[in-house]
Amino acid sequence: MREKLVVGNWKMHGNLQENSALLQALLSGLGGRKRSAAAVCAPFPYLAQMRDLLQGTAVAWGAQNVSQFSKGAYTGEVSAFMLHDFGCRYVIVGHSERRALFGDTDAIVAEKFVAAHGAGLRPILCCGETLEERETGMTMQVVGRQLEAVLGRAGIPALASAVIAYEPVWAVGTGRTAAPEQVQQVHDFIRARLSHLDAALAQRLQVLYGGSVKAANAAQLFSLPDVDGGLVGGASLDAGEFAAICHAAVQ
Ligand code: PEP
Repeated sequence: MREKLVVGNWKMHGNLQENSALLQALLSGLGGRKRSAAAVCAPFPYLAQMRDLLQGTAVAWGAQNVSQFSKGAYTGEVSAFMLHDFGCRYVIVGHSERRALFGDTDAIVAEKFVAAHGAGLRPILCCGETLEERETGMTMQVVGRQLEAVLGRAGIPALASAVIAYEPVWAVGTGRTAAPEQVQQVHDFIRARLSHLDAALAQRLQVLYGGSVKAANAAQLFSLPDVDGGLVGGASLDAGEFAAICHAAVQ
């Protein structure tokens, strides 16, 4: 049985005061009840705050992006080694907003994945189709292509320390959640694709769903056989909602 995991993606939100209140409310909301493993991915300037406030708690933390380069003349970039050195555990790689707005191509995402894995971080690899791609029947082709890019560069063994997040672009931040059948179909496709290369690894791999997950829809989504938790954007900024989502993800 795979452990469920719920990861909050704060995107570019928060400040010291708000983050502190949010984390305190989250920790008390999570309480001692049975629930999934949980993590939050914060903007770079607040990673120190995550480290201080989440130390010794059951909530892990991570970053939302990483450089594909290990070091050098790359002004403004943050390397995977730096994140790991600082105590960071997770990093999101290939989020659709980075693919769409910041030029993260499949090849760059693959390099970032390799950098994160090589530094000892746990990459959360996002994949997913746009609305146009879904409507033209391209979903599996697009998700397959995004996976291939990483597999071709990193190799299947590197996936052992990773998490995959299927995030249909049309469901991210839109309030429009993918239907359970659509989610299960793509998750099954991802696991089957990896099973060809390493069946045991594919069975162990956590595949999260992301795209307008809320407390109201989490239990149904997380009960699907190939859904191992969620990557949660907007709802992770509300401690009560996020805690309820984590509670919805008990095994
Ligand atoms: C995300 O940011 O990865 C995400 C899934 O956002 P939301 O939950 O707001 O759709």
